[in-house]
Amino acid sequence: MTALLITVDTELSSSLHQRGLSLEENVRRSIWAEAQGRGWGVGWQMDLLDRFGLKGVFFLDPMPALVHGADFLMPIVGAIVGRGHEVQMHIHTEWLAWAQQSPVGGRQGRNIGDFTLDDQVVLLSLAKGLLEDAGAPPITAFRAGNFGANDDTLRALASIGVAWDSSVNPAYLGRECGISADPAQIGATRLWGVGELPVSGIADRPGGFRPAQICAMSAAEMRAGLRHAAREGQDAFTVVTHSFEMLSRDRQRPNGAVIARFEALCREAARLSAVHGAGYNDLPADLADRPARTLSRAAPSRLRTGLRIAQQAWATWRYEHRLVPA
Ligand SMILES: [Zn+2]
Repeated sequence: MTALLITVDTELSSSLHQRGLSLEENVRRSIWAEAQGRGWGVGWQMDLLDRFGLKGVFFLDPMPALVHGADFLMPIVGAIVGRGHEVQMHIHTEWLAWAQQSPVGGRQGRNIGDFTLDDQVVLLSLAKGLLEDAGAPPITAFRAGNFGANDDTLRALASIGVAWDSSVNPAYLGRECGISADPAQIGATRLWGVGELPVSGIADRPGGFRPAQICAMSAAEMRAGLRHAAREGQDAFTVVTHSFEMLSRDRQRPNGAVIARFEALCREAARLSAVHGAGYNDLPADLADRPARTLSRAAPSRLRTGLRIAQQAWATWRYEHRLVPA
């Protein structure tokens, strides 16, 4: 069985905050993704997952608590945990720029990997504590904002007892992501004391990598990637999306193309008997310590890549440039 981890980076927008948006409005737009009188955020995502018997992992960023206080976290954590989905830890250190009291002596950085090991331990334990105080069960998994982690992040996670990391995305390795991971790694491994399960993907061209992110892959590419993982008996297939990803980039209206892709993924996952929806707490404890197997990614298809480029051009025209009245 392949565990399908549908992971949702659940976060307020620091750029909307910078532009003067209130906490309340930021939560409404970024977490519940309200547009045109309806929500397309974590509530809608859980409705969809529930309809297909799947589980979501919501990597929630608690750092805005340094600016706004921690009260906003409880309703979000409560909604997710109350419906049987997982809350795990995400971190955007950008928020330190507006912190009333800095937990790291005023030091700032865009990514968690910009900090020393000691500062990372402080920031990650603070984030873990904020989430657990807001009602989350013990945090067992982490993803860095912007995938901006490094090896010290894994050491820090191990030291505070977080079992899994999901900050390795081969599309970001050597850029924002400074973890010394092999881009060809597909299955779980143990790195610096933490189970590392990279973001899944396909080869969209020879030697290329396209991450399994809902806004970046066509429904056909996602289907090909998931079917391939199931056929190979891979332990896990990790998909990435965001709490606000179902909206157009200006967050003013729903993006029908992205919504349709999410629905297509759920439908396909429910149809495949070798795939089951899972959270990190459902993974076998020894998964990262099993002997390595030779695994591969779905092979390139010029037709599939070409179709996605055409569909993306259409969706950009339709949902981003507002050339069609809606
Ligand atoms: Zn993020």
